[in-house]
Amino acid sequence: MDCKGAMNKFVDFIDDKLSVADLEEFLDHMNNCEECREEFEIYYTVIMGMRMLEKNPHNTEINLSSEEKLQSAEKWLKSYKLRRIEKRVTFLLIIIYIILVW
Ligand SMILES: [Zn+2]
Repeated sequence: MDCKGAMNKFVDFIDDKLSVADLEEFLDHMNNCEECREEFEIYYTVIMGMRMLEKNPHNTEINLSSEEKLQSAEKWLKSYKLRRIEKRVTFLLIIIYIILVW
């Protein structure tokens, strides 16, 4: 993902609308690109400020800073991957169990 692609995803990222694949690419770029992180900070502050003024009751993450938002997304992605691995391992164990028992 290049800078333009990352910046196009700012709003979707803030709204948690990115697919897992997009989120992974997005975070990867954000981790390696200072320019986009700075841009995102401005974006995030403006959008969250606007939403706070509108008093949107669906917004529970108003108090997060842009940095915290990135970190929490990263944590989520890690736990998502872990859950996926766990599912595969469980599936494999079940198969092994069936083979052994039969
Ligand atoms: Zn960039």
